[in-house]
Amino acid sequence: MSQHQVSYQNSNNQILIGSELLRQFVYCPKIPYFRHVLNIRPPTTIKMDKGNEKYDQLRKILILYQEKIKKRLPPEIVHLQEGYTNLRIFNDNLGLAAQVDIFIPLPYDTFTQYVLEHFTNAVKILKYFEVMYGSPNTVGQIVEVKFRVSPPQSQKVAAHHKIQLAFQALLLQHHFNLPVLLGTVHFLPNHSEQFTLLYPQDIAKVVKIIRKLRYHLVTEDPPEPTPHPAKCTNCEFRRYCHHA
Ligand code: SF4
Repeated sequence: MSQHQVSYQNSNNQILIGSELLRQFVYCPKIPYFRHVLNIRPPTTIKMDKGNEKYDQLRKILILYQEKIKKRLPPEIVHLQEGYTNLRIFNDNLGLAAQVDIFIPLPYDTFTQYVLEHFTNAVKILKYFEVMYGSPNTVGQIVEVKFRVSPPQSQKVAAHHKIQLAFQALLLQHHFNLPVLLGTVHFLPNHSEQFTLLYPQDIAKVVKIIRKLRYHLVTEDPPEPTPHPAKCTNCEFRRYCHHA
């Protein structure tokens, strides 16, 4: 392995894969190759540190979700589990790390209401989850917060967001030992939401992508570029890439 590659490793000497690296690979497989194999660092645009501001916003959004859950709960249930913001999870065995904007342990009844409200074929979907997981008391909801308006006319979670959510679900399931079944993308300026369900096959797909990403980083075998040339227009590696 070249000394320029990703240097963080777990105790099994595996390269540590984070959700940002995975997102880049899904967007275009060439990006992690340029950044971590060829060690190209394109000039960055100066961004103001908005860390604290973001943290405050995440807490406010968590409270919004908790209020929504409380409204759906029967009055005899007074205890609602705490949610988490800005959660950092590391799994040494898997060699994976993720930062999760918001994670909420969701009462199963509330989850079924979300499914009935937001998905066609809800009854079939719920039957499937019951076969897979029984009827757990609690399942997990991930909320990924985007500080920009949602794309017009888009109710569907974009493929690369779904992969990121499934990646986080994989780590959260191991950490909290509960099924993480609901993913939400929350666009902050107008509080619009997109919902997606996280199936075992989504997690299996992520595991396959992680294997592929590790292969290209370890062997330095150049991956194929994205099949969508429109992505090249705003790519920071455009000037180094002969596919652009
Ligand atoms: S310019 Fe296009 S092909 Fe090259 S790294 Fe960027 S997105 Fe991928």
